[in-house]
Amino acid sequence: MKITIKETQEKLRKGEITVEDILSEFFARTKERNEEINAFLSVFDKTLNDIKSKDKNLPLYGAFFSVKDNILIKGERCSAGSRLLDHYIAPFDATVIRKIKEKGGVFIGKGNLDEFAMGSSTENSAFGPTRNPIDSERVPGGSSGGTAAAVADGMCNAGLGSDTGGSIRQPAAFCGVVGFKPTYGTVSRSGVMSMASSFDQVGPITNSVEDAETIFNAICGKDENDSVTSDLIRKKVKKDLKVGIPKEYFVEGMEEGVKEAIEKAIEKVEKAGIKVEEVSLPHTEYALPAYEIIMASEVSANLARYDGIRYGLEFDRPVAKTIKDAYLENRGEGFGKEAKRRIILGTYALSAGYYDAYYIKAQKIRSLIADDFKKVFQEVDALITPATPTLPFKIGEKVEDPLSMHLSDIFTVTANLAGLPAMCLPCGKKDKFYVGAQVLTDRFHEDTLFHLAKKLEEIWKQ
Ligand code: GLN
Repeated sequence: MKITIKETQEKLRKGEITVEDILSEFFARTKERNEEINAFLSVFDKTLNDIKSKDKNLPLYGAFFSVKDNILIKGERCSAGSRLLDHYIAPFDATVIRKIKEKGGVFIGKGNLDEFAMGSSTENSAFGPTRNPIDSERVPGGSSGGTAAAVADGMCNAGLGSDTGGSIRQPAAFCGVVGFKPTYGTVSRSGVMSMASSFDQVGPITNSVEDAETIFNAICGKDENDSVTSDLIRKKVKKDLKVGIPKEYFVEGMEEGVKEAIEKAIEKVEKAGIKVEEVSLPHTEYALPAYEIIMASEVSANLARYDGIRYGLEFDRPVAKTIKDAYLENRGEGFGKEAKRRIILGTYALSAGYYDAYYIKAQKIRSLIADDFKKVFQEVDALITPATPTLPFKIGEKVEDPLSMHLSDIFTVTANLAGLPAMCLPCGKKDKFYVGAQVLTDRFHEDTLFHLAKKLEEIWKQ
């Protein structure tokens, strides 16, 4: 049942439907579809009791979540899509989970993902790929592909993902739903498995911009368990917004169907009376290489904790003879190919002799990219770009070609490098597939972003 949180709330509050009805519809849909789509790694049976105990007036009453399986829900398995954590049970609630519980939301289950959130197709999951509900031969995007597919296919009406370089926005674009990555530091990462800590941010995947706003408002704010968090500094929304189109985002190699749809979408924006002008972000071409180096460096440090001592493979296996054997067995058998590739690359980039040439240089580029945005936001209030260079590709098509897989993130990584809020939403179609557009604003200007994105949603629906 494809329904927004808002519609669900209205129906529930008016008594048009009961929570039992809704839940049985979501569960029936999941039962019918999950075997093929593989959107959920686990489905909960306590959800009905949870929702019955909630106050109807809470802001997230009527929100039924798929939570990406790298976010901890106390007492439930949290696998990160990795064989290494197949048996891991979360000992506490992530801050975002605690907030959702307090504000009336409930959880349907945990969403499939690329191992430790590393990938753009959900094919790197140790528990099999998720399939795109629009065409099951194709990928749903990644790494939050399971959650995006569940929301798009009506198995739930809300999703929580994590975005390090595009993992909320790119699967939202491939599945035709809304995906929002907030300003870095506005949402707590406590209880979210770290991939690359200076980029990671939690955010919603939904069927409407308004639902994304509702969830964001419920989960944001300072958290003493995450020292980079701050309360959202609310900025005023200007009356007449000026939108920039960065010319560097219209690169060669963009699939024709995507290019056409996005150009048409921008024409519609102009016709609707919104001021649009071309702008330039000159360092854009260096964004993906800089992201790859910094991300892999942070991954290599963060994934060091999976050592077979604190976290590791199942406990009933024979005990390794030496500590080195324990490391080798757990990391050798536990991690998949992509995780190993990134650990090796990151360790290399951080090693003496290469640190300055790669890591420091990438950090310098990161500053240049942030400066580009700073300048451009003195001219315009928001930016519109394509979300992805291609339509959903076939399962297996890019698995053996990691470089071409990484190109999927070319338009999304810049927001993580600069810590900006960014949202992807459908702006048109090519055959049966949706094409996504991305809207960005300056840091902490989420209210402007929501205001504009709601307008765009209306304009692009027609
Ligand atoms: N697809 C990107 C990558 O593979 C982003 C991942 C993410 O945002 N978690 O690194």
